[in-house]
Amino acid sequence: MVMALACLRVTLPSWPAAAVRLLQNYWARVEKTLPSDLSAGFPGPSWAPALAGAPPTPLPPADAGLADGFVWMAVPKNRRSIEVNRCRRRNPRKLIKVKNNIDVCPECGHLKLKHVLCGYCYSKVRHETAQIRKQMGGRDSRVPTVETVVLYQGETPSAEDQGKRLIERDRKRPSWFSRT
Ligand code: ZN
Repeated sequence: MVMALACLRVTLPSWPAAAVRLLQNYWARVEKTLPSDLSAGFPGPSWAPALAGAPPTPLPPADAGLADGFVWMAVPKNRRSIEVNRCRRRNPRKLIKVKNNIDVCPECGHLKLKHVLCGYCYSKVRHETAQIRKQMGGRDSRVPTVETVVLYQGETPSAEDQGKRLIERDRKRPSWFSRT
C-alpha cells in the first residue's frame, strides 16, 4: 500500500496574538452596538464567541518532533475501494478454520482437543497436588529424605509403608489417583 507521511497535531493550535486582539476588538465593537437591554440580559462576556475551528496550519518543518507537539505517522496515500477491502477481510486465510479434532474427555466428559491433556482434569490434579504439597510443608517437601505416601479417608498404612512419610488427606480418594 502506498503510504505517505502525514502530521498529527497533538496540542491545540494557538492563535496568533494579533488575530486574538483583532477578534477582541471586533467583539467590543459588536457589544457597543447591541441594545442595552439585550446586553444586560446576558451574564457578562462569557457568551463571547468561542473559537470553533482550528485555523489552517502550515506544514511543520520535517525535523519537528514530539517536543514541538507533532507526531509523524504513516497514512494511506490513496483510497482503497470497498472491493479490495472486502477481498482482504474475507480472504480464506483469515476465516476461522473448522476444527475436526475435538474429542470428549473419557474421564470427565468435557470437550478437549484430541491428543491433548484435558484442561479440566489437569486443573483438578494440579489443585490436589498443591494441597498435598501444602500439607507436606514448605522446605521439607523439596528434598524429601524418605518416600511419601498419601492416605485418603478410610485408608490405613500397609506394612510396606512403615518408615515412610504419611500424608493424610481428609477426603475420599479421587478416582484418577490410584494407590499404587
Ligand atoms: Zn477431563
